[in-house]
Amino acid sequence: MTQTTATDETATSQSEHIAQLDRSHVFHSWSAQAQISPLPVAGAEGSYFWDYSGRRYLDFSSQLVNVNIGHQHPKLIAAIQEQAARLATIAPSFANDARSEAARLIAELAPGDLNKVFFTNGGAEANENALRMARLHTGRHKVLAAYRSYHGSTAGAITATGDPRRWGSEPAISGVVHYWGPYQYRSPFHAESEEQECERALAHLRDTLMVEGAHTVAAIILEPVVGTNGILVPPENYLAGVRAICDEFGIMLIADEVMAGFGRCGEWFAVDRWNVTPDLITFAKGVNSGYLPLGGVIISAKIASTFDNVPYPGGLTYSGHPLACASAVASINIFKEEKIVENARTLGTDVIGPLLKQVADRHPSVGEVRGLGVFWALELVTDRETRQPLVPFNASGESAAAMTKFTAECKRRGLWPFVHFNRTHVVPPCTITAEDARQGIEMLDEALFVAD
Ligand code: PLP
Repeated sequence: MTQTTATDETATSQSEHIAQLDRSHVFHSWSAQAQISPLPVAGAEGSYFWDYSGRRYLDFSSQLVNVNIGHQHPKLIAAIQEQAARLATIAPSFANDARSEAARLIAELAPGDLNKVFFTNGGAEANENALRMARLHTGRHKVLAAYRSYHGSTAGAITATGDPRRWGSEPAISGVVHYWGPYQYRSPFHAESEEQECERALAHLRDTLMVEGAHTVAAIILEPVVGTNGILVPPENYLAGVRAICDEFGIMLIADEVMAGFGRCGEWFAVDRWNVTPDLITFAKGVNSGYLPLGGVIISAKIASTFDNVPYPGGLTYSGHPLACASAVASINIFKEEKIVENARTLGTDVIGPLLKQVADRHPSVGEVRGLGVFWALELVTDRETRQPLVPFNASGESAAAMTKFTAECKRRGLWPFVHFNRTHVVPPCTITAEDARQGIEMLDEALFVAD
């Protein structure tokens, strides 16, 4: 492994210098600026990254659940270099080979008649444009979005978000109404089975539409498998039920696949698992593993045709940037050559899922294990009977101490975990080996003793 092994003073002082500049000049996302001290990272490869002292971490977070292909894939880097040498930038109004090919490949992967791609720089912009398209196509203005969802931090996307990250931005855009999606472990509907949860969630959605006026609703936006709010895998018939409701009332279904897509769920798109075809799919993250900023909206023929003779009132200077698109082309080809989607699916069923269930058997603090592919969560509780979360909603200080300690214990062992409220998500690259997954889960298992 070609990692930095320097442990000398130069490396330490370089690391301190970077940290110092960061503290002085970088304004960080979602953070109280005085309270963070990000780790300076010297390099990465595959499922690992390391600091300037050469200390390695197994990346069980895939950074922000986006490095699906693993770090520093040589073919992906070569493709970016090749494109940069040939044509580093060109405005969206021109055509270029990288953009056309990326759009063709993505459209080919998408279900049904979703065959045009509008490129953005990331997930929030993708959702922003999907909402705009749905509104313009239907001529309606309301949007239904789920509680316990995250759709990004631009005005429309953060308004659609159904978690506390929205609060600081309110009021943002008008016309967004939230509803409850299924979450059987903490059922908003007091359901006792998956079937009941599904039935009641769909009935609740119908009721919400009735009181809002279905004819005023342009779109329902949802994460097919909810990501940062807990890896909530929907009941078997839920997405098909939502699709049917949308069809009945002429509402556009937007699947936000920013986190769930491109292999994360062991499918190209999470909706494939349930054979559901949305009207719009938004993607980002895994499409090129974040080697360059890229996202987009995959648009059904029906919606795209709205703009055949009427201009689409939206655009971005970097829409379909050749470097980002070249990285997407390379990434999709690598996914196919290395059977990465299949790897993610098998890891979930044969390795990660079974091992996490054994972890749950050993630790009273684990209330539930859920997930699929390389997209798993352990929900931690103080008491399995009452399901009292180990860390209360909006926890801080003392009450968050258990999770802070757990995180520190993971890092001490060389595991970089993804921790959110009372959960740890197991979301390594889709390319992780079974052996690395096993070792990571062992470290997580040891660290969990602090929570029991
Ligand atoms: N949608 C989902 C489901 C996400 O998980 C995220 C980011 O985590 C976004 C949208 C926003 O994407 P971005 O940060 O690229 O704007």
